[in-house]
Amino acid sequence: MTSDLAPLTLPDSEWETWLGSRCDNQLARARDLVDQLKAGDEPSRTLALWNDVNIALSNAFAAASLFANVHPEESVRSRGEKAEQDAQKLLTDIGLDRGLYDVLSAVDPAELDTDARRVLTLSLRDFRRAGVDQDDAVRSRVRELSERQTEVAQQFSKNIRDGVRTVSLDPVQLEGLPEDFVESHQPGEDGKIVVTTEYPDFVPYLTFGKDRAARGELLREYRNRAWPENDALLRELLELRREQATILGYDGWPAYDAEVKMIGKGSAIPEFVDRISAAAEASGRRDMEVLLARVQAGHPEVNVVDGTDGSFYGEVVRRENFDVDAQLVRRYFEFPKVRKGLLDVTGRLFGIEYVEVDIPTWHEDVASYDVMREGERLGRIHLDLHPRTGKYGHAAQFDLVPGIDGRQLAEGVLVCNFSRALMEHEHVVTLFHEFGHLVHHVLAGRHSWARFSGVATEWDFVEAPSQMLEHWAWDAEVLRSFATDQGGEPIPRELAEKMRAAKEFGKGLYARTQMFYAATSYSFHQDVPDDLTASMRELQESYDLFGYVPDTHFHASFGHLQGYGSGYYTYMWSLVIAKDLFSAFDPADMFDTEVSYRYRDRILAAGGSKDAADLVADFLGRPYDFEAFQTWLNT
Ligand SMILES: [Zn+2]
Repeated sequence: MTSDLAPLTLPDSEWETWLGSRCDNQLARARDLVDQLKAGDEPSRTLALWNDVNIALSNAFAAASLFANVHPEESVRSRGEKAEQDAQKLLTDIGLDRGLYDVLSAVDPAELDTDARRVLTLSLRDFRRAGVDQDDAVRSRVRELSERQTEVAQQFSKNIRDGVRTVSLDPVQLEGLPEDFVESHQPGEDGKIVVTTEYPDFVPYLTFGKDRAARGELLREYRNRAWPENDALLRELLELRREQATILGYDGWPAYDAEVKMIGKGSAIPEFVDRISAAAEASGRRDMEVLLARVQAGHPEVNVVDGTDGSFYGEVVRRENFDVDAQLVRRYFEFPKVRKGLLDVTGRLFGIEYVEVDIPTWHEDVASYDVMREGERLGRIHLDLHPRTGKYGHAAQFDLVPGIDGRQLAEGVLVCNFSRALMEHEHVVTLFHEFGHLVHHVLAGRHSWARFSGVATEWDFVEAPSQMLEHWAWDAEVLRSFATDQGGEPIPRELAEKMRAAKEFGKGLYARTQMFYAATSYSFHQDVPDDLTASMRELQESYDLFGYVPDTHFHASFGHLQGYGSGYYTYMWSLVIAKDLFSAFDPADMFDTEVSYRYRDRILAAGGSKDAADLVADFLGRPYDFEAFQTWLNT
């Protein structure tokens, strides 16, 4: 019944007015619906009205956030930001609206079907987690705690952003760095070159800088960003979260946070961390031996490899042992061919077609397509893939319209910053990853309930479908179907296989470092330590196979503690699930549509209609497990 749904008509001018009214109208509608709900005139329609509130809110959030991030005109971006704030305020008010909670909790679940009951249960849980059902004293304390958390968290992040440090080097100390790095780092009047702790400086320097002492110096500065000012702020943030969780009846922040995640229980986090650490032990130690031997070849005095040498020698080993020439690789990834390849590969995999449409959009770089299946339009996608001034600087999928069965067509946007000519293979992988979110948004856009629409699963599952799709960007046969050089010659199979082998080096080491971060994120929140540095150091010694760098205070700039809280394990958790999902596919036949269509229907199209664990079990025919991940780590 969705086939006749019209896509959103985008304007060809007057964007600010258009965006303002799109968002204001949706928010006004949401407010109006909340009033109707609380008036209680039609108790039989309570849940339907509540769904309409959520559709209107999602529409406002989607347009506001998208155009705040991508529109070329600054006034439109600002209008989007304002609309985002308005939407956020309304969402907060709704979450704390006791009258609304009372109306919803008066609905008798016995009179609902399974889907509606799930919507009701999840909604009431959100209200309770906000503290709406508590007495006045608790509610006002929760409000205080959350306001103070926002302030402290903002300051914590600001200190990291502002806490850029520098080292001053002689020109000769740029030896090993790529040409464009050297060109953009000219000496000042004192003859010195300034290298900062920001990623575009830090990452290449630690990876390619041949001067070991300078790498060490830069690394120490990097790991001391926002130190000491963030130490006390972090402790306060942890205490605030602990109190909030406890006052709402939870055994600490991890329990509160994990309740809405696939992992389910706070206590499951340390179990997961220990399990992954054990699984990565052999593989991690094996690669560490290779790395240490390579470091010792030049520096026999080194006994423990730390961050000073980790990236640098990791790269050396990859170059020497796997012989991948990045310059040669790039020749096979011309942007237009990659884009076409992405659409061909995912179209074949999911049984869909992309039909390019010529419509007004926000920028001439944007390519729009209708997503078709057997003649029926499922949704519309917009690919906005090249950099420009004022545009969001990373790679992400944004919603434009959440799809609702029979009411509105799903529309999503991919926002990336890729070269128009030759791409790094790493960027090709990113493109496949982000496209995984986009196709999830579209395929899950045909539910009646807004709560189930699109990428609406638990937060620690969200990355799994995208991580799984990355496999297609690493497979030699898949790559050969679109990665051809100027003369039309496909990328050699041997080269594609070497690229993959090089990437696999160090995966156990990586897993152990990730578990150090995950353990820190969990234990800091569970039992706030008196001495954060001492505790962080102890955790590094237990989990990380790289050594601690003396006199550094990594936690002070561990920005993810703000956004992820105790949930840093999420990255690795979703990778475990991604490997498990991928185990259903035959690596020798990546396009077996019996498997890929089942995956499309049971995982992607299902959206948030079931718990992620149930979706995975529906697809695999068994509960998720760790086997595929363990096998991958140890081969
Ligand atoms: Zn992602």
